Amino acid sequence: MLADTPVTALKGVGPKNAERLHKLGIHSVQDLLFHLPIRYQDRTRIVPIGSLRPGDQAVIQGEVELADVRFGRRRSLLVRLADGTGSITLRFFHFSTAQKANMLRGSWLRCFGEVRNGPQSYELVHPEVQRVAEGQAAEVEQALTPIYPTTEGMHQLSWRELTGRALDLLGAGGLQELLPDQVLREQAMPPLAEAVRLLHRPPPDQSQRLLSENGHPAQRRLAFEELLAHQLSLRVLRQRQRRRGAPPLRGDGRLQQALLDALPFRLTGAQQRVLQQLRDDLARPHPALRLVQGDVGSGKTVVAALAALCCVEAGYQVALMAPTELLAEQHLRNFANWMGPLGVELGWLSGRHKGKRREATLAGLGSGALQVVVGTHALFQHDVLFDRLGLVIVDEQHRFGVHQRLALREKGAAGQAPHQLVMTATPIPRTLAMTAYADLDLSVIDELPPGRTPVSTVVVNDKRRDEVVERVAGACREGRQAYWVCTLIEESEVLQCQAAEDTAAALAEALEGLRIGLVHGRLKASEKEAAMTAFKAGGIDLLVATTVIEVGVDVPNASLMVIENAERLGLSQLHQLRGRVGRGAQQSHCVLMYHPPLGGVAQERLAVMRETTDGFEIARRDLEIRGPGEVLGTRQTGEMQFRIADLLRDQDLVPGVQALADRLLASHPESVAPLIHRWIGSKVQYAGV
Ligand code: ADP
Ligand code: MG
Repeated sequence: MLADTPVTALKGVGPKNAERLHKLGIHSVQDLLFHLPIRYQDRTRIVPIGSLRPGDQAVIQGEVELADVRFGRRRSLLVRLADGTGSITLRFFHFSTAQKANMLRGSWLRCFGEVRNGPQSYELVHPEVQRVAEGQAAEVEQALTPIYPTTEGMHQLSWRELTGRALDLLGAGGLQELLPDQVLREQAMPPLAEAVRLLHRPPPDQSQRLLSENGHPAQRRLAFEELLAHQLSLRVLRQRQRRRGAPPLRGDGRLQQALLDALPFRLTGAQQRVLQQLRDDLARPHPALRLVQGDVGSGKTVVAALAALCCVEAGYQVALMAPTELLAEQHLRNFANWMGPLGVELGWLSGRHKGKRREATLAGLGSGALQVVVGTHALFQHDVLFDRLGLVIVDEQHRFGVHQRLALREKGAAGQAPHQLVMTATPIPRTLAMTAYADLDLSVIDELPPGRTPVSTVVVNDKRRDEVVERVAGACREGRQAYWVCTLIEESEVLQCQAAEDTAAALAEALEGLRIGLVHGRLKASEKEAAMTAFKAGGIDLLVATTVIEVGVDVPNASLMVIENAERLGLSQLHQLRGRVGRGAQQSHCVLMYHPPLGGVAQERLAVMRETTDGFEIARRDLEIRGPGEVLGTRQTGEMQFRIADLLRDQDLVPGVQALADRLLASHPESVAPLIHRWIGSKVQYAGV
C-alpha cells in the first residue's frame, strides 16, 4: 500500500529531498500523490500566433523576420517571429552572443512563454526558446504540464520526476478505493486512482478552465472524499459520545414557569422552538450535544437559563462557562436576578477567585448544595468536582476548541456524561457549521425580539474626531448613554488598558459635565462590576472600554457606540461590539472611526458593516474575505485544515457528503476507519476518543 510506503523508497528521494518533502507534510508515497498541481501549462500543441491573447501561456513556432538589438533605457534584443497567422515580439534583456546567433533572421524557433501587451505588439519576455527546422513536426508534450506547489530547493522538474515514479507504482492497485462502486456510479465520480493520475498528468483534451477553477470532476472527487473523511471523523466522535449514558433530565416545569411568569416579555417563536429542542435533548438518557446559534441580541441567555432550570428541577447541577470574566459576571448577574427569587442556589468560580471563597464554592459543588455555577475556564480545573453535574452550558463557543469541548464532559456524575449546550453569537453559514460542528446538533434562534430598530452605521475618518466627540455630548445631553471603544493593535493587555485610561481622561476633559466610566480587563472585578452596574443604572453617561465589552454586555438605554480604529477589528468582532447598542426601542447609531490610510480589506469590512446589520449576511461576507480557517478560529490549532478541499469553494459538496456519511455509517462501516485514517491520520484531536 502506498500509504505505508515512505517517499524515501522512491528513486531520487535522498535525505535532503526527504526533508524538503516532510516540510510539506509529505511522508508516504500516498501523500506525494495527494500533493496536487496548483496549475498546468499547455505544451501539448502549437498555437497559431494570430490567436494569442495577453495572459495566455503557449507554445508557438515560427520564422524570425527581424532580430535587432535596441539601446533604449535598457539594452534589449527584440526578435519578431511570424507563422503566417500573425507575428509577435520576443524580448530579451540578457542574452549571450550564442543565443543571439541562434535567432538570426530566417531561422525557425519554437518558444514557450506568457503573452503580454508590449509597446508595439504582443510580446513574450524571456521565453524558453528552441531552434527547429522549418515546418518541423511538433514533438510536444503528451499531457498538460503540471506545476506543483513547492518549497525551496525543489524544482518543478524534480516534482515531475517524483510524481512520475509514484504514478508508476499506482498501477498495481497502490491506492485502495474506499468508496463503494455503487456510490461512484451514482455520483458519476471517477475512481480514486484514475482521478489522481489524471490530475498529475491531464490529457490535452481536459478543460484547462475547469482545472484552474478546481471544478474538474477528478478534483471534486478528491475534495469530496476528504470532506467525507472529516465528516465521518466528527460523526464517529459523536456516536461514541452518544453511546455513553447521561441522566435523563425531565423537569416538572415549575421553576421554568415561574421564570417565564416573571419575565417582562414573552419568548419569541424561535426561542420557544429552540427551548423545546433543548428540553427534548435533556430528557434522553444519552448526552445531548447541541450548538445554539443566534445573532447578537436574539436572546440566547434566557433560553440557556430556562434549560438550566429544567436541569435543576430534575435534581441535577448546571455549570455555565463563559470565555471572559466580564461575560461570566454578566451571566451571573442575569442568573441571580432570574433564579435568586426562585430559591435556586448559585455559585461563582473564576481564575481570580482564591482561598476561602473558592473552597466554599468547591465544597458547595461537591455536596450538591450549589445548584448552578457560573464561571470561566476555571470550571475546568481538576479539583472542581460536582455532586451531580447534569448540564454544561458553554457560551461563545467559537473561543473554545474541540479539545475543551471534550474535556468538559469528564466532569459528569459517576460514569455519566453531562449534557452539553454550546451557544454562539457568531453565526456561521450553514454549510460551514454542518462541516465544522458535525459532532453537534444545530439549533438556530433566527428571530430577534420585536421592537428592535436596526442600528444605523457611519464610517468616519478620525480627522473628524472633534465632531464625533460633539455627537457623544449631544446624545448624552438628551439622556442617552454611549460607549466609546478603544482598540489597539498590540497584543499587550497592559497597553490596551493604558490606552483606554488615556482616552477616558482625554474625553473627561473634552466633555466636562458628563459622567464617564471606564472598563477594561485589568480592573479589579469589584471595580468593573461597579462601573457596569452604574452604567446599567444610568449613573454613567459614557462608558469608555476596551473590546472586553464585546460580548454579553446588555444595557438597553445605550444607543450610541463609537469604535476607535475600527479598521483594526475583524467583521465578527465589529458585529459583536455593535450588538451592544440597538437593544432598546430608540434608534441607535454606531460610528466606526478609522485612521487613514485604509487598506483594501479594511475598506471592504467597514463597507459591509455600513450596509447590513444581519449577522448571517456578515458571516457570509466574513467567510469570503477571511476564509474558513480564520472564521472558525482553527487556523492556529490545525483543526479543520484540508489538503485538497476548500470549505468555501466546495460548499456545494457538503449536502452530498453528509448524506453519504450517513449511508456509509449504516451500510459500509468497514470503509469508515480507513477513510478517516487516509485523510486525517494521526491528528491528535481525534485520537483516543
Ligand atoms: P444574546 O443572544 O446576544 O446573548 P441576550 O440573551 O443578551 O442576547 O438578550 C438580549 C436582550 O434581549 C436582553 O436584554 C434580554 O433580556 C432581551 N430579551 C431576550 N428575549 C427577549 C424577548 N423574547 N423579548 C424581548 N426582549 C428579550
Ligand atoms: Mg449572549
